[in-house]
Amino acid sequence: NSFMELNISRPLLRACEALGYHRPTPIQAACIPIGLTGRDICGSAITGSGKTAAFTLPVLERLLFRPKRVLAIRVLVLTPTRELAVQVHSMIEKLAQFTDIRCCLVVGGLSTQTQEVALRSMPDIVVATPGRMIDHLRNSRSVALDDLAVLILDEADRLLELGFSAEISELVRLCPKRRQTMLFSATMTEEVDELIKLSLTRPMRLSA
Ligand code: AMP
Repeated sequence: NSFMELNISRPLLRACEALGYHRPTPIQAACIPIGLTGRDICGSAITGSGKTAAFTLPVLERLLFRPKRVLAIRVLVLTPTRELAVQVHSMIEKLAQFTDIRCCLVVGGLSTQTQEVALRSMPDIVVATPGRMIDHLRNSRSVALDDLAVLILDEADRLLELGFSAEISELVRLCPKRRQTMLFSATMTEEVDELIKLSLTRPMRLSA
């Protein structure tokens, strides 16, 4: 029961060590092997379960070993609030600290121009709130999701509670059909089920 047994490679193992993660949490042990296969995941997981590293580690691992054909956004993480986006972005940067994978934050309240410059430099991973991400995609021809490989919907129940349903549908439509999607939610409501049907393909259901 270690990260090494989960086939996580050197730079990511070093980051886990630096963060003081000695063994995977249950959601990480369940999610990492499936995430690495590229299969869709629907996870019941609350904050505190270690879900951020559970989706980040397989994503980073796949980015490390997939040669970069194009300069493009490969992973989009959508969160309901700016505060959560800031936390997730910070966690991804810590886990990616020994790699050259770049992550950028796109949320309301920060300067649009600064974010535009950051997005144009084509980070590998974008952590965003839905409204601000759509603004950028609508207003900038240089920002697109055409080469996206992974879409992550974090705290899906709260995304819907906060009224982001239309924005998420629009973002899902802008992503390539062939992609991996991972959705996490503390509660599984009817609305979450609808979002699962809209955005995931034969997902593996996990809970922690
Ligand atoms: P999360 O549920 O992703 O918000 O993570 C909750 C907290 O658990 C964060 O402070 C993480 O840094 C920490 N954490 C995540 N994975 C592990 C692990 N394997 N061992 C110890 N702490 C962890």
